[in-house]
Formats: sequence, C-alpha cells, structure tokens
Amino acid sequence: MKLVIKFGGTSISSGKNIKTVAKYLKSISKQNKIVTVCSAISGVTDELLEISVHIKKGNKENANHLVTKIMNRHKQLAKDSISKSQTQKKLLEKLNADFSEFEELLHGLILLGEVTARSLDYLISFGERLSINLVSYALLDLGNKSIPLTGKEVGIVTDSNFGEARPLMDTTRIRVSKTVDSLLAKKTIPVVGGFAGADQHGNITTFGRGGSDYTATTIASCIKADEIWLMSDVDGLMTTDPKLVKKAKVLKEVSYVEAVEMALFGAKQIHPRTFEPLLTKKIPIRIRNTFNTKNPGTLVTASPDTKTKKTVKCVSAIRHNGLIDVRGGSMVGAPGTAAKIFTTLAKVGVNIMMISQSPSESSISIVLKKADLDRAVNALEINLLGKIIKKLEVTPDVTIIALIGSGMRGTVGVASRVFSAVAKKKVNVVMIAQGSSELNIAFVVQDSGCKSVVQALHDEFELAKLN
Ligand code: ASP
Ligand code: MG
Repeated sequence: MKLVIKFGGTSISSGKNIKTVAKYLKSISKQNKIVTVCSAISGVTDELLEISVHIKKGNKENANHLVTKIMNRHKQLAKDSISKSQTQKKLLEKLNADFSEFEELLHGLILLGEVTARSLDYLISFGERLSINLVSYALLDLGNKSIPLTGKEVGIVTDSNFGEARPLMDTTRIRVSKTVDSLLAKKTIPVVGGFAGADQHGNITTFGRGGSDYTATTIASCIKADEIWLMSDVDGLMTTDPKLVKKAKVLKEVSYVEAVEMALFGAKQIHPRTFEPLLTKKIPIRIRNTFNTKNPGTLVTASPDTKTKKTVKCVSAIRHNGLIDVRGGSMVGAPGTAAKIFTTLAKVGVNIMMISQSPSESSISIVLKKADLDRAVNALEINLLGKIIKKLEVTPDVTIIALIGSGMRGTVGVASRVFSAVAKKKVNVVMIAQGSSELNIAFVVQDSGCKSVVQALHDEFELAKLN
C-alpha cells in the first residue's frame, strides 16, 4: 500500500518516542511505500508564537531565551534519539544549518521590532522544519533511506493568505507527485514537515493551528495514497470524553462528515480542512495511537459500512463558555439587527460558537468562549445598548453538549429521547440548536450539569455498546 503516516507533536517529543516512531516506520516500510508527515515537537509552535509576542513588545531577552531553549531541546533530542555517532554528527550539522537561518531571521525581526503576517509564518514554520530532521535521521540510524523535506521543498504551493493558506492543488499535485514518487521509487522515505508550504513567490505560508493533518491529506491526494494514518497519543475518535464517562469507547468507523463534526466539537483536535483534499479522492483515514499500534484505531471513510450507521455516535461537551442573551423590542422585524450584532462582535475579534433566535425575534442567544465574554459584552454595550438592544443577560460557565451521528438524519424521536434524558437528571436546558444537516443536535446547560448529562446521554444511546 501507499501510505501517508502523520505524527503529532507528542509522538516525537522524546528521544525514546522518536526511536519508537522510527522503528515502527521501518517495520511498516518493508511491505508498504510510505511518506511521513511530522508536526513540530510538542510545545514548540506555542513557543514560536510566544517569541513573536516578545519581539513585538521589544522583550529581546525573553525572545532570545526561548530561541536558545528551542535549539537546546532539539540538540538534546538529537543526542537521545540517534545511536550511531556518525549519524548523530551529521544530524547536528543539519540542525546547526537550520539554527543559523532561524537566528538570522530572529535577529532581523528584533532589529525591526515588528512581525508581519508573512514573517510570522516564516518564524512558526521552524517547528516542523526542525522536527523532521530528528525523525529522518532516526530512520537513517536504523539503516533506512530517508530525507527530511519542508512543505515548500516537497512542492506544496499555496495562496498568499498567511496564517490560513490553502494549497493551489493543480500546481501542488504536479510538484508533490514528482518529488515523492521519485523518492519512493528509490525506496527513500520522505519525512515532510506539516503545517506549512510556500506561495508562488516562495514565501513560507502556514495552514493554521493543527495544520499538519491538512498537509497529510494534501500529500495523500497528490500521490493517490491508499490510506492516511493520523498518529497521536489517543486510540482514536471516542464515543465521549473518557474523563467524563469511564465506559467511553473508541469508534471503529465514522464518515468524513461525522469526523468533521467531531473535530469542530472538539472531540479530537483535527484541522477543520483536513478532509477537503479528500472529497474527490475519497482516501480512507485511520486515527491511531503511536504508543498502541496493535489497536487499529478509528477508520474514517467517505461512505462507511451501513452496519455502522447508528443514530448517535458520540456525545461531546465543550465546557467553560459564556452565553449572552440579547433582548430588545426593536429587534422584531428589523432587518439587519443580527448583522449589526455580529459585526460588532467581529470587530473586537470575538468568535461566535453557537447562535439561536426564536421566531418571535425578540431575543438572540450567543455562545462564545469565556475568555471573550467581557470583550463581547463591552462592545455590545458601547455600540448597541439603548439602540437596538434593550437588555443584555449574561450567563458565565455554560457547556455546549453535542450529539453527533449521521444516522440521526431523518430519524424521528432522537430529540425527544435527548431531552427526556436530560430532564431526568433535572438539568435545565438553556438553549438548543440543530443544524439542518441533522448531523448533530447541540444544546447548552450550566457547566455544573455537564457531567451528569453526558453520562445520561451516553447511557440513553447505549454508546458503550457501539462497535
Ligand atoms: N505545529 C502546528 C501546531 O501546533 C501544526 C500541527 O501540530 O499540526 O499547530
Ligand atoms: Mg500539534
């Protein structure tokens, strides 16, 4: 099989883990052609972002301190993950070459005291740029042929939308397939840096946080891979958060659309655009655990087996949000009210997670991250209170609970089962929304009711018995 195997940051964050990954790849490569995609070592992307903040604030010392920390961490990992001294020496040389460019970039940014969207992408791409060296040389150490390649080097060409770039698929397909196929023909394992590519002018671009998944599916689509494995530190997508329900189970099979919903509801961090490159190619994805490779994980396919089309597959909970209820008589029948409210929130950079408006139009409820609550309330008060809004009611500490499963579409009675189960727990439902896709039902309760509701729904839909 032709496989694209992507490792998240925690899978490669110690010398021991890197060795485990390399050994695993070596064994898989005996029967298969593989391309590896790697995230940055865990925590490094966050530190790179922190560096950018220090630079903007003129905190040169703090920025330099973090730079040294990142470089030392990679040097240490190089020592811990490679046994042969010759390979280790070569790896340190390669790392030093990348460090020089990293330091030069930093020097420039510090001198300017400014970080633009373009230079930020260049800066944060270094996480993957460094991590691929470790994995690739660990493979060399075991006697495999391998080469580290950045997204730019493998041929991912994107638009110039820094921070949220998209690959230009026609060009990318030609370049990536050419690079990768010739390496695979030579039995060389490409270890590609996730998260980044370059625009047509050669400027480094990134795909947004968690973007290495997107790199994996993009490459898979270009080389017509048979499967993509997303390796992390969990066994797969689960029926719910095992911290809330002990009986939570790994789902054997879900569809792309269900996986997208689960990702959006935070059941597992998958980059939201991961499935985009697969809509025409329909390549299956397996979500698996690097540290438990005997477990086949969750299979995500375009059209799953009919047996697995159960009504509800997963209950997920996003805790610690705030809810604003916006009321006002003059909102009724007044076109543009919602637009004004949302524009006001957008201007202060507040992301809206969920909205609902009753047909009487006299109130709109908005759920957002708790961290955004004060900013949102201030903006609404300053701009709209006393005008279109009469009253703002704020509830801090609410949880969004979502049930996900494509089998809900057209199935009568799911909502009634949901809300009876919640009522039995004597938990009040603050707000309800169901998208017309019928892939999920979402509702809001106080944080204090979260655990008992999730348990009740997990039982009601017998999710522990799913297979
Ligand atoms: N390193 C990037 C991040 O932390 C991309 C990824 O891990 O997928 O967001
Ligand atoms: Mg990550």
